[in-house]
Amino acid sequence: MKLSELKNGQSAIIVRVSGHGGFRKRIMEMGFVRGQKVSSVLDSPLSDPVKYTVMGYDVSLRRSEASMIEVLPEAEARMQVEAVATVGCDAMCDECSVSDCFRKMRKATRQNQINVALVGNPNSGKTSLFNALSGAREHVGNYSGVTVDATTGHFSYKGYKINITDLPGTYSLSAYSPEEVYVRRHLFDQMPDVIVNSVVASNVERNLYLTTELIDLNQRTVVALNMYDELTASGATLDYESLGAMMGVPMVPTVARNGRGLERLLDTVIEMFEGTNTVARHIHIGYGSVMEEQISLVADALRPCDDLPKQFPVRYWAVKLIEGDSEALSMLSSCSEFELWKASGQKAAALIERRTGKDVEMVISDAKYGFIAGALAETMTEPTRDTNRRTRRIDRLVANKWLGFPIFIFVMWLMFYTTYRLGAYPQEWIEWAFGRVGEWLGGVVPEGWLRSLLVDGIVGGVGSVAVFLPNILILYLFISLMEDSGYMARAAFIMDRLMHRMGLHGKSFIPLLMGFGCNVPAIMATRTIESRSSRLITILITPFMSCSARLPVYILLAGTFFPRYAPLVLVGLYLSGIVVAAVTARLLRLTKFHKDETPFVMELPPYRVPTLVATLKHMWDKCEQYLRKIGTVIMVATIVIWFLGYFPRVDAETLATASDPVAMQQEYSFVGRIGRAIEPVMAPLGLDWRASVALLTSIPAKELVVSTLGVLYGAESEEGLSESLIASGAFTSASALAFMVFILLFFPCVATVAAIRNESGSRGWAWFTILYNTAVAWVVSWVVYLIAGALM
Ligand code: GDP
Ligand code: MG
Repeated sequence: MKLSELKNGQSAIIVRVSGHGGFRKRIMEMGFVRGQKVSSVLDSPLSDPVKYTVMGYDVSLRRSEASMIEVLPEAEARMQVEAVATVGCDAMCDECSVSDCFRKMRKATRQNQINVALVGNPNSGKTSLFNALSGAREHVGNYSGVTVDATTGHFSYKGYKINITDLPGTYSLSAYSPEEVYVRRHLFDQMPDVIVNSVVASNVERNLYLTTELIDLNQRTVVALNMYDELTASGATLDYESLGAMMGVPMVPTVARNGRGLERLLDTVIEMFEGTNTVARHIHIGYGSVMEEQISLVADALRPCDDLPKQFPVRYWAVKLIEGDSEALSMLSSCSEFELWKASGQKAAALIERRTGKDVEMVISDAKYGFIAGALAETMTEPTRDTNRRTRRIDRLVANKWLGFPIFIFVMWLMFYTTYRLGAYPQEWIEWAFGRVGEWLGGVVPEGWLRSLLVDGIVGGVGSVAVFLPNILILYLFISLMEDSGYMARAAFIMDRLMHRMGLHGKSFIPLLMGFGCNVPAIMATRTIESRSSRLITILITPFMSCSARLPVYILLAGTFFPRYAPLVLVGLYLSGIVVAAVTARLLRLTKFHKDETPFVMELPPYRVPTLVATLKHMWDKCEQYLRKIGTVIMVATIVIWFLGYFPRVDAETLATASDPVAMQQEYSFVGRIGRAIEPVMAPLGLDWRASVALLTSIPAKELVVSTLGVLYGAESEEGLSESLIASGAFTSASALAFMVFILLFFPCVATVAAIRNESGSRGWAWFTILYNTAVAWVVSWVVYLIAGALM
């Protein structure tokens, strides 16, 4: 609870004081210190300032100031103490601040919780640090933009409970990209106690730019000089103690990969939290006399105002007003004198531009880089070994103008080939196991609906999906290796030219490639694309990237109907998806979004040997996700499908006369009726009512297609299912192909639609996807059916 919410006459214990350094210092000097007791002695409600008693003195605070102080009401504090203490606290009185009990209460309510935010450039190892510290298994990758949301983990260290938040990577804290806005908003709204700024030790010059922005915010910051191993390997040296002293920020070398330096880092975080660190101090980075004069003028106008947010210092707001940073301005817009401030900021900016001949942003960035260069000149020696040689040598081959593309195609081919061929072995074992379970159940459970539910419904349906776990793991193994080694960034680079033809650029390629795994994180990964129109187009074409959930359908049908050419059919399908995506992108560019050619840097991070742990963790995660999906959505859905297929029953007499009683029963059931209703629409594609039902069930999750077919064709194993598919004669090679194409292009799963809705910020685009993709699926499948029918 905030101190400002404390009612008249109530008492509480101070838990933490937030806000920028200067503000905290002033407030703490007044006696508002962690663990102190504070009482509200306000007379009239709604008055401002409010009177408080703390440490025996009466002090008045503005409401806006009191709202930066977190307190625990005395009654709750008492309860917390009683929970841990052996003696009750009944005897506690108001002025017994010396009593044993009160001391205990103070100790208990110090609430040794530290909220830490991880801030740093993309690809600086924030997520690796986060995982190493909290033991979490978040996704790391060797390219920018892997983390798109804040993730929080918790752990205990030396009696403190530490809540750590992994934030998206940013180069600065202005308002250019959604990440930058997001990170600054997080610092403003969540007010973390300590910021850990991860800085790539071998690339300090650029990374420290963000550090200078954090210095401007005057927050309690610790720099983690991560990847220190790379710095050492290059032969460079960095006197980080002097550098930290100059910048007023303690610096700790770390290697997130193997956990080196992490204890020191945490000790420093605690020192910052407790205010015992001797290195930390607030410094101002000078912007030159012209700008400084204007900053003072604007700051003087701001200073007397009570409603100025206390999170960031006055100087910071003054600079932002002069810069005209729209996002920062909106944080101030509720202040009473906002319009006046804005005008004075604009005036100052014009003046600075006139006098220096540079725009404000350039004045600021020149000053910051100058500051960094100066600091590094004194503390750093150049690398003696060229550690980038390996990277450059590999790139000469892999990113080569002529070889790059064939190599990329080969890697893709290898990925799909291995997924299909290598996956076939473990697949057989799983199949065998499910077959035995089905047989065994068939033997022990008496004939009737229960046996049908267990054998045909659950074992058949779930088994037919579970079989594909190895294939999906292999696919993810490849994606994970490509991401972590740095090859993914090269792939984007190689594809850049091709992507331009689609009206996009290389940056869109990584999300698209990730779409082969799952469309949902892929759509979220588009956040690194600065241009709004490119980002939207990328979001809208991602569903055409065939996700791993569609893979089981292809493996089943391609294996059944094109046994000799299955890998080829697979690659063909993936390529068709890409072609449809490209055509769609072009169409969108032509009709809705006009050209934009924001220039950007395609980063090529150094190659890094993927860590086994990260790769295994990634695969284990996918495995867990898949199994969970099988245990929940797929299990429930197969039961529902079984139910709809089993009931209503045809009466026994009629059934006895039928030539094919199983088929008769199915057609009579609910599923049969639903299928029949849709069949006319699907008939031109050569698809019967069972296939129609399977398409319908793919809406919650694409894997359900296989389990639906498994239930409808009453097979316990994939091999059995293949045989029943051929035996039933429901599919020809042409219609199987049309069916696969339909699955490829059709309505994306519900989770993807939700992701599109969130990321595009409009329901309209979600509807567009549903309708457009379904229409495209129908038309393309129809054409494929006609052509394939004519050829085969
Ligand atoms: P993020 O984008 O800041 O979250 O960075 P990631 O945690 O995803 O890491 C980026 C890359 O750097 C990955 O390939 C990591 O394996 C690698 N990496 C992270 N920490 C270290 C380190 O201390 N040393 C080395 N050599 N590599 C690291
Ligand atoms: Mg990350």
